[in-house]
Amino acid sequence: MVEVLHHGAVKGVTGSCHELRVDDAGILIDCGLFQGTEAGTGPAIDFEIEHIRALVVTHVHIDHVGRLPYLLGAGFTGPIYCSQPSALLLPAMLEDALSIGFTRDKALVRRVLTLLASRLVPLPYGQWQPVPECPLRVRLQRAGHILGSAYVECEAENKRLVFSGDLGAPHSPLLVAPC
Ligand SMILES: [Zn+2]
Repeated sequence: MVEVLHHGAVKGVTGSCHELRVDDAGILIDCGLFQGTEAGTGPAIDFEIEHIRALVVTHVHIDHVGRLPYLLGAGFTGPIYCSQPSALLLPAMLEDALSIGFTRDKALVRRVLTLLASRLVPLPYGQWQPVPECPLRVRLQRAGHILGSAYVECEAENKRLVFSGDLGAPHSPLLVAPC
């Protein structure tokens, strides 16, 4: 059975984190931080992660990736799929976010970034990627939002589901429009 659960961006627009579950395994699409009036509303990871086989990152804005260090801290050991440009940008974005908003402990920040680097699996756009130990596959497509942004197509049980992430802005001189 294919199910979609939401662990963020439900009552507001920040904290984007969605789960696609197929039978007893699942993946997360984004793991964003709650910001503004939604910030600090509870523990960062308040859902089960034992059955989560992978995280797919749509883009590196903090409301889509800011809870990633907490996910690693909670024991998540799966691959982190993202586009090739996002894989280059993500460590810098999280280093900034951790150093400004969380800790001045440089050694701790380095440990998180080393762990992150060991899990990152950059994917080319338009190429299906099977998820280990989960009967589904994912494919990134250009979302035209920021450098490296993607929307995610997922296929499971002959169904295709699309997680948009953020789409556009149109007419950017730097970005290919969503396709
Ligand atoms: Zn965004």
